Amino acid sequence: MAVVRIDTGLFQHPAIIAAGPKAARMWVWGVLWSARERTGGFIPHAAVSALDDEENGPALAHALMQAGLWREVEGGFQIHQDMTDPRAIQWRTHSERLSGKAWRDLREAVFTRDGYTCQYCGASGVPLHCDHIIPLNRGGSNDPTNLTTACESCNMRKHNKRADEWEQM
Ligand SMILES: [Zn+2]
Repeated sequence: MAVVRIDTGLFQHPAIIAAGPKAARMWVWGVLWSARERTGGFIPHAAVSALDDEENGPALAHALMQAGLWREVEGGFQIHQDMTDPRAIQWRTHSERLSGKAWRDLREAVFTRDGYTCQYCGASGVPLHCDHIIPLNRGGSNDPTNLTTACESCNMRKHNKRADEWEQM
């Protein structure tokens, strides 16, 4: 029996979220199937309908391709290699705090995108911070989609909460 390691942060992976829960389930099924059959991430067409049902299989396969999790190859589909490696998932969901120039450049790009305006209260012309919407220590990443511009007081008040938790307070 083969064993597959799937990172606990998988449910927060942007591609998994984009694919939707049903396709995400099929992705996991596909990883398990391919590991058991030792196909190196290849899933033949016949197996796809077995993974879900014949009605939903093709639509879910399409969703997985749209999300960049599968690609079509001759005779079936291939799970993207980096997605069969749990370290790749880990890297994307448990990012380290960036330091130095990499962080300064990323922060500048986020400020520019957000027009140098706090995205929580609309303040501008004040000292700005680059905020992790989902904090790094709670599984957030350094992807620009997880970064936003926050003024000092919003950033301090939000602290270690996710943006949605903070907005409910
Ligand atoms: Zn603010």
